[in-house]
Amino acid sequence: MSHPSDDNKPAPGNNFLRSIIERDLAQTGQPERHFAGTPGDAAHHAAGPLDAAKIRTRFPPEPNGYLHIGHAKSICLNFGMARDYGGICHLRFDDTNPEKEEQEYVDAIQEMVAWLGWDWHSGGTSHLFFASNYFDFMYRAAEHLVTAGLAYVDEQTPEEMRANRGDFGRPGVNSPFRARTPAENLARFREMKDGQHADGAMILRAKIDMAAPNINLRDPALYRIRRATHHNTGDQWCIYPMYTFAHPIEDALERITHSLCTLEFEDQRPFYDWLLGHLAEGGLLAHPLPHQYEFGRLNLTYVVTSKRKLRQLVDEGHVDGWDDPRLPTLVGMRRRGYTATSIRNMVEATGVTKSNAWLDYSVMDGCLRADLEGKAARACAVLDPLKLKLTNWVELFGSSSHVERSSAPAHPQLAELGQREFGLGHEVWIERDDFMEVPVKGYHRLFPGNRTRLKYGYVIECTGCEKDAEGQITAVLATVVPDTKSGTPGADAVKVKSAITWVSVHEAVEAELRLYDRLFTIEQPDAGDGDYLSFINPQSRRVVTGYLEPSLAKVPAGTHFQFERHGYFVADRVDHQAGKPVFNKITGLKDGWSK
Ligand code: ATP
Ligand code: MG
Repeated sequence: MSHPSDDNKPAPGNNFLRSIIERDLAQTGQPERHFAGTPGDAAHHAAGPLDAAKIRTRFPPEPNGYLHIGHAKSICLNFGMARDYGGICHLRFDDTNPEKEEQEYVDAIQEMVAWLGWDWHSGGTSHLFFASNYFDFMYRAAEHLVTAGLAYVDEQTPEEMRANRGDFGRPGVNSPFRARTPAENLARFREMKDGQHADGAMILRAKIDMAAPNINLRDPALYRIRRATHHNTGDQWCIYPMYTFAHPIEDALERITHSLCTLEFEDQRPFYDWLLGHLAEGGLLAHPLPHQYEFGRLNLTYVVTSKRKLRQLVDEGHVDGWDDPRLPTLVGMRRRGYTATSIRNMVEATGVTKSNAWLDYSVMDGCLRADLEGKAARACAVLDPLKLKLTNWVELFGSSSHVERSSAPAHPQLAELGQREFGLGHEVWIERDDFMEVPVKGYHRLFPGNRTRLKYGYVIECTGCEKDAEGQITAVLATVVPDTKSGTPGADAVKVKSAITWVSVHEAVEAELRLYDRLFTIEQPDAGDGDYLSFINPQSRRVVTGYLEPSLAKVPAGTHFQFERHGYFVADRVDHQAGKPVFNKITGLKDGWSK
């Protein structure tokens, strides 16, 4: 809409915010910025030293829900810019709305910002702030505006206010209460504060211009009456500031230099500047004032990221809680097994732009693979087990209980992770699709007469299968080809075209495996007018019982693995226990979603 300054014009280079910050840091002749060590008004900061932080940014979540992947963008941007430019990033809870905010969310948000690798402590000081601690100043600021003739108490009904606001093509109409004197307004505003009026009976509005082309400047609301208990201030207040009034003040009290927010706030910027300008003029706030800059939101395909919709999914039981591994909440993504590094890298890869981005979920998976490929230990797991019987075992080794020792590196490149030890017995679990009674063209695994290698073990030759009364295959039969054991001389003399993974029946660790797929069946479930809930993928979670190699019998919850052939898995941080393993599939080895 209106652009009072050139501040938000994209600058050359792929990150316009960096260009803006670099420009600002290079500028001379600016008023000196003092910082008293804690948030405060002009007098407070004037008494403090010059700010040692080159810039100040902030991540300002409202504690009314759990953070999601979109917030990770804002977190990494704000903390990242502060890190890169010798600044400090504040973690500020924007807790000015008494109704929906809870301590549970305050705690969870701090946990996730820290999990992502960021720290709001700097130089021995915590930069963790609560906007509700600024209520006194906000009230004072409001009284100042009233006294200066820049705000008035409006007693129109909400319907009248809406009708009189006009719209894009039609200017608004002045309220009949707009012409009251400052003294009358001040008295009324104090009555509001003192609880003499009912909720919703009147509001405090800025007095700007009911004909402004930018509707946000048509006398926006500053304070409303709301009798609600606030998680921090209890019942001290019955009036609460509106977000658009509170947020710029929070930035200014904390001496934020670059207030980075998402694009939908672009039209609020003129009011941001109007408000802070007048409060500075009145001596309440110190120059230089913060500036707001807008960047595009990050959205992921096949999920929703609005807090309201996430809450609906949780409350209505479409998922199993805020940390359901199918959700794009950070607690959900962590539980699914996405690493903090992969999320940071994904966010970084999207850059900073002036348009909202829709990122395909496969990009997230690519970042996860890139992170874990070089780190996660390998292991064998059978997800869809079918028994394989080695029918010449006794003949070769003398006893059905004989075990051939095998081993494999825990990681092909990381020798320091050591070897995994396991045994090959006369019966092993293999994947059901590693056998075809009648092979299709090009199939090289088990079918009668064909040979394959049990990876890290022997070459075997398939001789047939067993079936139950319904004709279902219950076991595959094969013989061991002597002298072909991996790692022994001459093992490769017998050529085969495939190798399959397996886990011996005698030592297999039974595990619950949770196999996840997209939560929604379409890319942008909440883009159209339809009910996004109707696009929930009924197959988004499949739980199977599989078998793991014995080295996985006792691993701590939260440990990541690459299950050979299958992809990346993590021991579930909530339900996994020694003796009752539960693993979540994070993603496959390659992008299986593109077709
Ligand atoms: P939602 O719209 O999901 O309810 P919100 O914007 O209301 O989120 P806040 O707690 O107000 O949630 O957000 C804290 C910060 O995170 C804000 O600065 C907001 O702009 C930013 N943010 C929220 N969602 C995204 C997103 N998808 N991409 C980038 N930044 C985001
Ligand atoms: Mg919001």
